[in-house]
Amino acid sequence: MAIQWFPGHMHLTRKAIAERVAEIDVVIELLDARLPGSSANPMLAELTGHKPGLKVLNKQDLADPERTPAWLAHYNAQPATRAIGLDASQAAPARRLIDACRELAPQRGGLAKPMRVLICGIPNVGKSTLINTLVGTRKARTGDEAGITKLEQRIVLADDFYLWDTPGVLWPRIIVAQSGYNLAASGAIGRNAFDEEIVALELLGYLKRHYAGLLEARFRIEGAAGLADEALLEAIGRQRGALLGKGRVNLQKAAEIVMNEFRSGTLGRITLETPEEFAQWLAAGQLL
Ligand code: GDP
Repeated sequence: MAIQWFPGHMHLTRKAIAERVAEIDVVIELLDARLPGSSANPMLAELTGHKPGLKVLNKQDLADPERTPAWLAHYNAQPATRAIGLDASQAAPARRLIDACRELAPQRGGLAKPMRVLICGIPNVGKSTLINTLVGTRKARTGDEAGITKLEQRIVLADDFYLWDTPGVLWPRIIVAQSGYNLAASGAIGRNAFDEEIVALELLGYLKRHYAGLLEARFRIEGAAGLADEALLEAIGRQRGALLGKGRVNLQKAAEIVMNEFRSGTLGRITLETPEEFAQWLAAGQLL
């Protein structure tokens, strides 16, 4: 699979984080709860000088509710790391975020030593949505007074708790083939960078093994788990009327349908990797 690489973008992120890192106590990395391992950037720890890290599994409303706790436990077992799940429907995520950061950097607090945090994450993971929600919460409480809601580029989440309002945009770091497919399926990679049909086939292959019931219910295809990936994609295209003429299925269109329904959550709540699977992919050595 062709992967696009953006050295310019990478350089800017490095520079932006390097400039701020001395004034940061906790680095919040937003991960996609549907693909936590694949949506992480393994170079972040190095970029931030191994500051304590809060992993926020975002979009948990779209993820498998049985798998998110396993990922949270996985991260919570790591040193200097805490993990929480969030989604955009939560009106006031600030409290949990603040509490988790205070646990990570208990030496910070009070007006003389305020907590300073930065939100990072790959494109489309929900950074702006979360920051807007946090700003909105604060505005509602402080009544929009300039200089109180915002101090320079910082959002004041509590009297002694500041958040940088520009997130650190990380690049998707694809280290194993399966991560590339999962990132592409989630919408984190520009559509020109991959072949939609191949990504949809990989996605169907996984869904067939782990979420066959959801596939059968959504696309009204019986015995989905027993079909070859290609036959499944064809059956979905046919079922949805994605035809080219002479009864041939428009596989490109079928691939788009599968991916759109996965991304929007219409297919159901799905997580594309468990901590064990992700570790196996890394260990299998298919490093790119
Ligand atoms: P950014 O590129 O990291 O700043 O991502 P955005 O904040 O622009 O979000 C990307 C897309 O994901 C937008 O369409 C958001 O509405 C959507 N989004 C963000 N957070 C959530 C969430 O928790 N759940 C769901 N379902 N969608 C979300």
